[in-house]
Amino acid sequence: MEIKKIGVIGAGTMGHGIALVCAKSGYGVVMRDIEQKFVDNGMSKINKFLSRSVEKGKLGEEEKNKILNKITPTTRLEEVKDCDVVIEAILEDVNLKKNLFKELDTVCSEHTILASNTSTIPITDLASATKRPEKFIGMHFMNPVPLMKLVEVIKGLRTSDETAAAIKALAEKLDKTPVEVNDYPGFISNRILMPMINEAVYCLMEGVASKEAIDNVMKLGMNHPMGPLELADLIGLDICLHIMEVLYNGFSDSKYKPCPLLRKMVNAGYLGRKTWRGFYEYSKK
Ligand code: NAD
Repeated sequence: MEIKKIGVIGAGTMGHGIALVCAKSGYGVVMRDIEQKFVDNGMSKINKFLSRSVEKGKLGEEEKNKILNKITPTTRLEEVKDCDVVIEAILEDVNLKKNLFKELDTVCSEHTILASNTSTIPITDLASATKRPEKFIGMHFMNPVPLMKLVEVIKGLRTSDETAAAIKALAEKLDKTPVEVNDYPGFISNRILMPMINEAVYCLMEGVASKEAIDNVMKLGMNHPMGPLELADLIGLDICLHIMEVLYNGFSDSKYKPCPLLRKMVNAGYLGRKTWRGFYEYSKK
C-alpha cells in the first residue's frame, strides 16, 4: 500500500519525535493532542530540534520550513480521517488507549493501519478494541526518536503479514531499522533490558558491589554506553518497576520478580533524574 499521510496521536516526548521523523521523510503529518497547549509544546520542541540542525549546518532554513509545513497540529481527532497510518503515542494507560482506538476505528477509513507506540500493553489486547485487528500493529520507537535507529514492529495475534510488511517499509523510509517481534510481554527490548537493570539492583541490594562498580563493569566490560543503574535513573525507577511488574504478571514467572530495593526506592519517591535522586543524586542546576 502507498502511505502518503500519517496521523500521530499525542504530542508529548514520543509523539512530537515521531511527527518530526515522519515529516522529515516527506510525509504529510497530522499531530493531535487533547489540549492546544500540548500541541503547541510539541510543535515548539520540533522547531527547536530543527533549528539546532540548521545551526549545525545539517539542514537549510528552507528545508526546515518545508518540514514544519508538512505538520498540521490539531486538537481535533477527525483531522486524521484521511491518514493512511495512525500512530498512537498517548499515556501508557490501557483503557485510555482502547477508547482512543475505538474512536479511531470509526473516524478512519477502512484501509488505515492503526499502530501503537506502547512499551508494555499487549498489541493483541489493544487490537481487540477495533474491528480491524488485521490492520493493527505495534510500532515501538525508542527515545529520543530522531536519534534512535530501532523500531520494534510488534505483530499481534491477528495482525496480517501485509500490515507488518507495510509498517516495516514505513520504518525504513523513516531511516529506521525495523525488527519484527511477536506479541509477548515486554516484546524484546524491555524483556531483556529490564531484567538486566533489575539484576543490577539486586547486586546493589545484596552488597555485591557499589553502584559505581556495578555500572563500571557493564560500561567497561561489556561496552554499554551507560551502566544499568545510571540508565534506570534516566528511564525513571517507577517506569522500570512498572515494566518488571508487567513481565512478572504477564509470564506468571518468579524470575521477573521486581527487586525489593527497586520498589523501596519508588516508594521513597526516589524516581531517578526526574526527581533529582535515584541511585545517584543530580544537581538541579
Ligand atoms: P508523554 O506523557 O510525554 O506524552 C503523552 C501525550 O499524550 C501528552 O501530551 C497527553 O496530553 C497526550 N494525550 C493523552 N491522551 C490523549 C488523547 N486521547 N489524544 C491525544 N493525546 C492524548 O508520554 P510519552 O513518554 O511520549 O509516551 C507515550 C507512549 O510512548 C506511551 O505509551 C509510552 O509507554 C511509549 N513510549 C515511551 C518512551 C519514552 O521513553 N518516553 C519510549 C518508548 C515508548
